[in-house]
Amino acid sequence: MQNTRETIKKYNIQLTKSLGQNFLTDFNVVKKIVNTADVGQEDVVIEVGPGIGTMTLELAKRAKKVIAIEIDKRLIPALEDNLSGFSNVQIINMDIMKADINAITSEYDSSNIKVVANLPYYITTPIIMKFLEEDTKADMMVFMIQKEVARRIVAGPGTKDYGALSVAVQYYSKPEKAFDVPPHCFIPQPDVDSAVIKLIINKEPPVKLLDKGMFFKTVKCSFAQRRKTLINALYNTGGLNKSKEEIKEILKSMGVDENTRGEMLSIQQFAMLSNLLYESSL
Ligand code: SAM
Repeated sequence: MQNTRETIKKYNIQLTKSLGQNFLTDFNVVKKIVNTADVGQEDVVIEVGPGIGTMTLELAKRAKKVIAIEIDKRLIPALEDNLSGFSNVQIINMDIMKADINAITSEYDSSNIKVVANLPYYITTPIIMKFLEEDTKADMMVFMIQKEVARRIVAGPGTKDYGALSVAVQYYSKPEKAFDVPPHCFIPQPDVDSAVIKLIINKEPPVKLLDKGMFFKTVKCSFAQRRKTLINALYNTGGLNKSKEEIKEILKSMGVDENTRGEMLSIQQFAMLSNLLYESSL
């Protein structure tokens, strides 16, 4: 394959900032991402935003099948040309947010399904949450994202980066940061530093929930006003319809100080709290 710069020139592609089009130019980074996902002959890989196919090519060499979903139809001719030597690549011109991932992968039910992507940064969190919430049968996901978002995803209780995103991603998976990628590895260079994260999807949730909706509502309320104590955050943000007294009693029964802030609670404590809130509303 020609290098990224040459392909962009050859096809006269005008990169679109609003679509998060920062293409990788450093092939070592491409290899490191694919190595992180440990892609092998048994794997069916979904790639979000293949661009002109820089990483798709490396995935196609190693995987059983690559399903590449790209929103920008202007890139499809270059993508198809670059991958013309591979019969195991399916290119879909579609917005990933509108894609039915389970329908797309239905014929590969018994395969290892992995998601590997250098994500468009304007829509990082919605894409990650779509893959996690839709129960896509993927057992591993490797994403290049903004370094600051990577930090938030892997953060634990009591740190400044810990928040609703950390709890949500850690409910569905075990996230770990793999490595950092500086701006000069892309064209054009993004304004932020990047990092690659690996999510090993939980086969069973790490906590037992009486009501998943109540769990995520509790987490959202607890972090909505970070400077407030947990009791005030839960009372003020509403939606829970509990008096301060009721919330105080529940926290007390959990052995949690009422002046604690949400950022101190582990995922297990959020589960317990939301289960107690749920039970008390029956
Ligand atoms: N994979 C290529 C690489 O590593 O060089 C390109 C990565 S670039 C950061 C993000 C890609 O996602 C772009 O090709 C962009 O057009 C595509 N994209 C943006 N929004 C998308 C969406 N909603 N659905 C699918 N692809 C999208």
